Amino acid sequence: MKSISLDPELTGVAWANSGSAEHRSGGDYGKLVLVSLTDGIDIASYGWMDDAIDTLREQQLGVDGFDYLKESIQNIREADDTTKDEAGREFTVLLRSGRKDRTKPYWVDPGTDCILDADQLCAKQRGLLFAGMFTAINPFLIIKSGHLNSVDQLHRPQDFAMVPKAIAKARALGSSWMVLQNGGEVAGATVPRHGHVQAVKLPETPVERELRGSGLAFECDDKMRLLLPKDLGRTVIVATAGDHEALLAKLRKGHNVLMSKALSRGVPYGYNFAVRADEDGYTAFYAPRIKRIPSLYAALGLTNGPATLEALGIWAASQDEQFDAFTGPGTPLHDMYDEIIMPHHTAKEALGELALAA
Ligand SMILES: [Zn+2]
Repeated sequence: MKSISLDPELTGVAWANSGSAEHRSGGDYGKLVLVSLTDGIDIASYGWMDDAIDTLREQQLGVDGFDYLKESIQNIREADDTTKDEAGREFTVLLRSGRKDRTKPYWVDPGTDCILDADQLCAKQRGLLFAGMFTAINPFLIIKSGHLNSVDQLHRPQDFAMVPKAIAKARALGSSWMVLQNGGEVAGATVPRHGHVQAVKLPETPVERELRGSGLAFECDDKMRLLLPKDLGRTVIVATAGDHEALLAKLRKGHNVLMSKALSRGVPYGYNFAVRADEDGYTAFYAPRIKRIPSLYAALGLTNGPATLEALGIWAASQDEQFDAFTGPGTPLHDMYDEIIMPHHTAKEALGELALAA
């Protein structure tokens, strides 16, 4: 059900000037904002935002002098996607030449304290204000069919407090989108001091295909399912629920116990989070991360994020030769996962303690 239509003429002042007036209606915000609906995460009708994104994209492409997105679309049209099978597991590898220059900011003046703060937004950037986040089309697309950035209105850490907002956004976007968060620097967040999430328009990721196709690939109980591909180091916790409060409760328990386990062993901790909503509820994926290895990424020519896609079986390379190497035989996928994701037996032990405590 989509009950909200957007007026493309709804324009006004910049988000940078909207301050904390989060609960005012759209017209007050200005030229950066098409619509504002932030009275809480229950107000969104399922799937309405998918239409809004189409409108936003058209508007953004019509802005004179904002060429990043046009260039990115051009680059990505020429790019390749491929799937490979490694140890019986399917992976998707993307070549994203539009991300060759990985550090190039599209925000104005990156020399200040925080590049995601409202006053750093490019005046030519258009977006939607929803759930206390400003959502824009990512001008450096990784996914051809759709790639969004959502930045918290407030300067606050990139931590678990963003998860409820990600869930709200997933519901608003509907089932063709997956919302992603790299929880902390260990998990690949490039701006860990400022909360943000991403969303990609993908009907299904390799891990979801795996989940759907094989009931034997994961263990299952009423609370959490621990996805356990046989031959890779991946550990992905799968949580399902009919409503966002139930989902959040499950995720919070799992997050707390896994983080405690890592910290008690003296290893750093972060998480990759992904959530998809449909009309019946939610499916969320949570990968506990224990190491950040930027040097390995650089050596392999991998694009810097969204790291959560890696946990779901999608890797992106930024250069032709690296794409070729990565899709060839003998790539170090096993080693990568073994390095960055919490071992399955450790996660299982932690979740087992959770079950005992329940
Ligand atoms: Zn900030």
